[in-house]
Amino acid sequence: MNHSSTTHDIAVVGAGAAGTLTALRLLHHAAAGRPAPARIWLIDPEPAGAGLAFGTDAPHHLLNVPAGRMSAHRDDPGHFVRWLGSYGGEHDFVPRRLFGQYLAESLQTASDHRDTPDLVRVPDRVVAITHQPRTAARPLSLRLRDGQSLEVDAAVLALGNFAPGLAWAPPALRDSAVFLADPWVPGALTKVPADRDVLLVGTGLTMVDMALSLQHPGRIVHAVSRHGLIPQPHATTPLIAPKAPATPQLDARSGLAALRRAVLRQIAHCRRVHGDWRVGVDSLRPLTSALWQQLPPTDQAQLLAQDLRLWETHRHRIPPVSAQALHAAIDAGLVSIGQGTVTDAETTADMPGDVIEVQLDDGRRLRVGAVLNCTGSETHLTRTDDPLVTNLLTTGLGSPAPTGGGFDTTAHGRLRPTENRAPAPLWTLGSLRRGNLLETTAIPEIRCQADDLALLLLDRSTVETRSEPAPAH
Ligand SMILES: Cc1cc2nc3c(=O)[nH]c(=O)nc-3n(C[C@H](O)[C@H](O)[C@H](O)COP(=O)(O)OP(=O)(O)OC[C@H]3O[C@@H](n4cnc5c(N)ncnc54)[C@H](O)[C@@H]3O)c2cc1C
Repeated sequence: MNHSSTTHDIAVVGAGAAGTLTALRLLHHAAAGRPAPARIWLIDPEPAGAGLAFGTDAPHHLLNVPAGRMSAHRDDPGHFVRWLGSYGGEHDFVPRRLFGQYLAESLQTASDHRDTPDLVRVPDRVVAITHQPRTAARPLSLRLRDGQSLEVDAAVLALGNFAPGLAWAPPALRDSAVFLADPWVPGALTKVPADRDVLLVGTGLTMVDMALSLQHPGRIVHAVSRHGLIPQPHATTPLIAPKAPATPQLDARSGLAALRRAVLRQIAHCRRVHGDWRVGVDSLRPLTSALWQQLPPTDQAQLLAQDLRLWETHRHRIPPVSAQALHAAIDAGLVSIGQGTVTDAETTADMPGDVIEVQLDDGRRLRVGAVLNCTGSETHLTRTDDPLVTNLLTTGLGSPAPTGGGFDTTAHGRLRPTENRAPAPLWTLGSLRRGNLLETTAIPEIRCQADDLALLLLDRSTVETRSEPAPAH
């Protein structure tokens, strides 16, 4: 692909919510007169705005965050609700596909603006990146799956959620035709036989969506996980607090045990004052990343092993209507959720070909027509077989975060290379910063990161230098 060498070119790799928000804010700031002109390459074979969460067509797959908190623009919190019009108000949990449409439309509108740079869609995947700091007009060369290369000045890796890990699944299950390794692959649910029980492994947000899609009379949907915890519901009536709770003064430098006590105290205090534990959990959100970073590595590892799941089920909540539907299905005997791990699986001669028997650690044996991997996106980079991630780790342009969640990044999200490599103009956001930030996977955080990155990248001097400005916070 040939293009002028005078333009400042930025590639956004991945057009899920995070990549679309980054491109949108780049266009937004450029239209508002930010100095550096930019051509923006948005690279993804999938349509803009969809991604894992917002590409689903199912009307009962609802936003897990009220519409009023899902604006694409941190400086215009009502933007999404205005776009929704009669579809819903700020406290509503509308179908997630509407948010995907909103992002796609917002991007189109922004790119139609006459003062914005070109937005070029590339329907392909990036499989490798070369950094050529001194030899080429543009320091980054992105190799696409179709064999072509694209030269740019800087790139944002908005790669989002990888396919779920498989390490937990016994080989007999992994190799079976009834195993759905990633239930979000388009059309995956059409492979589930209509008249058989199913097993969902994992009991988080994906399980809730899948259980609601698959439950029907005549079938039992079993769901198990190591802990058996399911996401808590949002409050049925939005709490209108007379005064938002002050952000608590917490410090994690005294270690995890003291932090646990302080967090429980804060939640108890908010429940007393505001009548709802959710206010306490939400009041910690602005602090979570800073607290996480204050913990010593051993405490971080302990938190991941012992506290994360409990925290996430209270922090990443589901709409009350989804919780009610799930509990109605449980009460009707159509869904059963509990603790358990899969220890083995086998097919025997007396079974129909589309059935597998799964052994659980509590001794149960379940005969099911499908097993869905709902364990969530693999977060350890070294365990994914994603070609681009493998390339970045092999060349040393990126390195895994110390706790294993995504890439190790600077305060602004720039990839930290291995020791012997110069930093490349490569940034990332969202779930790929989990090891550094912990609180980084939902839109309210991602939109702020996307906006910060857009401003940073439109300043050409940032892209060209090896250092970064000091963080604003
Ligand atoms: C079931 C579920 C429901 C959720 N609901 C909500 C919600 O209601 N609200 C909320 O705020 N958050 C929600 N989340 C969190 C959600 O994960 C994020 O908000 C959102 O998916 C983040 O988008 P993303 O762009 O980072 O990742 P993704 O949605 O995973 O998108 C990544 C994109 O990058 C592309 N890509 C990857 N690698 C390459 C490559 N090498 N080259 C080119 N393209 C590439 C992929 O094709 C994909 O389109 C939910 C999560 C789950 C699992």
